[in-house]
Amino acid sequence: MRRAVRSHPPAIAWMTLIACAALAGCGEPESGRQYPAAGPSATEPPSPPPPRDGFAVPDARTRVRAAGALAGLADGVRDAFAPGPGFIPIVPPGPGDWLAQHSEPGQTFDHYVASRPNRPGRGGRRAIYILPIGELGPAAPPLDLLAAFTRAHFQLPVRVLPPISVADTRARTRMQGERRQLLAPDLLEQLRTILPADAYALVGLTAVDLYPGPDWNFVFGMASFRERVGVYSIARYHPSFAGGGGKSPAAPWVLSRTLKVMAHEIGHMFGMEHCIYYECVMNGSNHLAETDRRPMNLCPVCLRKLHHAVGFSPRERYRDLGRFFRAFRLDSEAAWARARAAELSPPDPASPPPP
Ligand SMILES: [Zn+2]
Ligand SMILES: [Zn+2]
Repeated sequence: MRRAVRSHPPAIAWMTLIACAALAGCGEPESGRQYPAAGPSATEPPSPPPPRDGFAVPDARTRVRAAGALAGLADGVRDAFAPGPGFIPIVPPGPGDWLAQHSEPGQTFDHYVASRPNRPGRGGRRAIYILPIGELGPAAPPLDLLAAFTRAHFQLPVRVLPPISVADTRARTRMQGERRQLLAPDLLEQLRTILPADAYALVGLTAVDLYPGPDWNFVFGMASFRERVGVYSIARYHPSFAGGGGKSPAAPWVLSRTLKVMAHEIGHMFGMEHCIYYECVMNGSNHLAETDRRPMNLCPVCLRKLHHAVGFSPRERYRDLGRFFRAFRLDSEAAWARARAAELSPPDPASPPPP
């Protein structure tokens, strides 16, 4: 989700903030949807906005057009952006799902290019940096795993910085019930001051809950497109957050949700908006069940946007992703990536031509 915070503390007036409830949405399983609103209490969720008039699922022609004109592209590249059997058109939202309550026109490839998004490489800035903020805890996926996925997904160098303690941040905190929260804009302000010279983006990752301002209950993450900094919390991805079970370290759904948040949120830092064309990791999501239904991959439209920003071989990218998924036993994702790579491979000259 892209939502400008309404009241910026003076210290963060420098940036256009985007609070992205995104993959895990503004919703929270145990407490209902939470929105910035006029409610005086930060602990009482204000009423959600009324459902909007129905979302019209784009038809096949609209989906093809959204990927832009493909004529003139090389074979293995053009085919990567065409509809194929591995991609599912977006399904109509159910009540409470993101697109049932948020009006999003969709960002076509042409709109994306016209928005003149940040692209890596300018000024030598190509690396994505991940900065752990405080202990991520035993339930969090290992940082080298997150870095490997981010590297394969974005096809850019990824570096993990030494962690900083929560005490070393200059972020304001507050208590929400028993839970400590960090003020996300303060973290972004600090990240901006330590952005490495070769960084395309600096992503702070924390297991502490975040809030974007006094009239919000929480936020999953927040980023500035133009300033190339973002901060995301994995606190609410583990069932233990809601008092449930799941105390086992690195439960599969925690891994899946965390990988999706890396792909989705860093995707926003490339200027990619929410996808309304296919089931796609760039879809908005209102609640964790909706997050869990989403695939981990980019659809053809969003893949073309990332290709425009970064430049890579789609086939090699799928191969890299396949290797990553296989190494970490994400078998269905590995099979999916392998199938996409095979579709983009030139025919084997040793094999006989089809009859
Ligand atoms: Zn989002
Ligand atoms: Zn998409």
